[in-house]
Amino acid sequence: MGLNKFKVSSLMDITARPDIVFVRGHGSWLEDNTGKKYLDFIQGWAVNCLGHSPKEVINSLSEQSKLLINPSPAFYNQPSVELATSLVNASCFDHVFFANSGAEANEGAIKLARKWGKIYKKGAYKIITMKDSFHGRTLATMSASGKAGWDNIFPPRMEGFIKADLNDIESVKRLIDDDVVAIMLEPIQGEAGVIPADKKFMQDLRDITNLHNLLLIVDEVQTGMGRTGTLFAYQQYDIEPDIMTLGKGIGGGVPLSALLAKDSICVFSHGDQGGTYNGNPLCTAVGLSVLNAINNSSFMEDVRISSDFLSKGLSIISDKYDMNGERGIGLLRALILNNNDAQAIVDLARNFEPTGLLLNAPRCNLLRFMPALNVSKNEISLMLETLDSILSKILR
Ligand SMILES: *Cc1c(COP(=O)(O)O)cnc(C)c1O
Repeated sequence: MGLNKFKVSSLMDITARPDIVFVRGHGSWLEDNTGKKYLDFIQGWAVNCLGHSPKEVINSLSEQSKLLINPSPAFYNQPSVELATSLVNASCFDHVFFANSGAEANEGAIKLARKWGKIYKKGAYKIITMKDSFHGRTLATMSASGKAGWDNIFPPRMEGFIKADLNDIESVKRLIDDDVVAIMLEPIQGEAGVIPADKKFMQDLRDITNLHNLLLIVDEVQTGMGRTGTLFAYQQYDIEPDIMTLGKGIGGGVPLSALLAKDSICVFSHGDQGGTYNGNPLCTAVGLSVLNAINNSSFMEDVRISSDFLSKGLSIISDKYDMNGERGIGLLRALILNNNDAQAIVDLARNFEPTGLLLNAPRCNLLRFMPALNVSKNEISLMLETLDSILSKILR
């Protein structure tokens, strides 16, 4: 590949990467090393909520890097205190622990729930999670995940995660015993193909967790930070979880994640939890400017307007090609195909000329759309037109 003396094979092979190298990005657009431009509806897997290299991220990175980058997590720093306060004020939670990835935030949630179970529930430690769920790629979060085929890749599996069916409250009730301490789920299963938890199901979960004195943990790594048209997805369910995790959008592209919990659940003793880079001022300063940009009613209203526009456009395409509809909440949506061509469509879209289109296929029969939250109407239209012309070529 055109990288002179450098070899892409020097990178450990962990996924099938296309034969292109991205060199710059701006807003909803990426550019590769040949100068070709791509309209990006992946955005680092719902990470770049303000698009590529937005001024908020550039400015806070450059200003904070001149002030203070890493004093150590054993000392307070201003941006982490400000971001934690803003998150607490914007949510139903009382305390925040910052981490560097969604999986690490979820590990923290699991540890917190187990510690709480040890103190208050006679050592209860089992966490009910959902089939097809995705919570990350560390050993514990892989065990928590309900992804098919993940049961026995790296044996032994971490014990203590039992699986229920999303939107089937009886399947959850059947699993509750004295060893259970919490129920953990994504408000919308992202990797599973954008499958929302029903409002009734989420409210029933809150009821049975209250009844049995269990914790309700929402993994909002993908759905949080405005993705669904409200700052957090749980707010659309009229419930208050006990613990929430955030990742992806919270850093607008830099590694940042968070674990939030109600006061009564914050039972870590000194030394139980930490990490070298956790809450560093460089990333939390970025998180603060991202939150300030999105946490206002006009930005959220724009997300909902874009979401309606995208949803309608996808429905029209679904009708035109006799597909199985579209679904999602806010700017996390999926188009359900009537065949298993999703990966072929993704490849054709990327190779489209003169400008490519980046789409994602978490399942062989569906496409997922997770554009920047500030994507324009024109960009959504261009994406829909490009998709339409690809579909007309391969399906007609
Ligand atoms: C992406 C994701 C994770 C894992 O986040 P990483 O930053 O990749 O560790 C966990 N949970 C959900 C719901 C996710 O979408």
